[in-house]
Amino acid sequence: MARYKDSVCRLCRREGLKLYLKGDRCYTPRCAVDRRAYAPGQHGQGRKKVSEYGLQLREKQKTRRMYGILEGQFRRYFDRAERQQGVTGENLLRLLERRLDNIIYRLGLGASRNEARQLVRHGHFTVNGRKVNIPSFLVKVGDVIAVRDKSKDSPRIKELMERAADRTPPAWLEYDADPAVGRVVALPARDQIDAPVQEHLIVELYSR
Ligand code: SF4
Repeated sequence: MARYKDSVCRLCRREGLKLYLKGDRCYTPRCAVDRRAYAPGQHGQGRKKVSEYGLQLREKQKTRRMYGILEGQFRRYFDRAERQQGVTGENLLRLLERRLDNIIYRLGLGASRNEARQLVRHGHFTVNGRKVNIPSFLVKVGDVIAVRDKSKDSPRIKELMERAADRTPPAWLEYDADPAVGRVVALPARDQIDAPVQEHLIVELYSR
């Protein structure tokens, strides 16, 4: 499967904000956005004027990169959001939030979405009692997400479980630290989605 292989910190610098793609490092002074707050590349410090199209494009790229999704799949999420009832931009964010890798991240069982995705791929979680190793799996209201019993011996999983126990998940999720089980209690309203995104700009971009 195609995936982005360059430095992810470049993506944050390009978007001009922290996308929290590296987990713990993002909260330290080693964060590249804190150290070099300008876009990467030869002209990084020279870019100033941004067109309307440029703004819309950046918003889409930022959102895509935040959730770690490639262009084609992102477009498919948008098409699906457009077919749903309600506000397309909010539908889009809701779909992205429902991805299993995002849920694991939101529960604190992954330090970043990248780590959460890798752990899902390695088969460390179940949904409603069945192993799911597809990061893009979309959860529904009522779904129960759990750490697999045999994964609980892994030092990293243990560490993440301790971390998740100390966190409060978003209001639309529940987490029971013992036995490391999360539940989707509702789909998130826009104000419950912690994503610095102006989704209407993405809708405008794809409506051109
Ligand atoms: Fe982005 Fe994290 Fe790298 Fe900082 S450390 S630039 S927030 S990925």
